[in-house]
Amino acid sequence: MTVLGLHRASRPSWRCEDCGKPWPCPERQAMLLDERPLDRMAALLFMAKLMYEAIEDFTQDGTGPVPDLYERFLGFLRPAEPDPAGGTESEGVADEGP
Ligand SMILES: [Zn+2]
Repeated sequence: MTVLGLHRASRPSWRCEDCGKPWPCPERQAMLLDERPLDRMAALLFMAKLMYEAIEDFTQDGTGPVPDLYERFLGFLRPAEPDPAGGTESEGVADEGP
């Protein structure tokens, strides 16, 4: 049964059940970002798992090269602004007394 409005993936084509666009469609991407605004890592793991399932589906289908699923499944979860992991707190901080 298809539930409309959830923009779920139809397998093995990995197209949206609602709008027919390659999944995750822009609507589903917006839903994912809205559902997990503070838990981007969980969303990344969730989408990575689905990406591997999609790769298996595309590979078993034998229809040729697998599309660029990395950008498609994970690209939209990248933070918009650069988020440098390395800090510079040891630089210029001198709280030790004389
Ligand atoms: Zn859709």
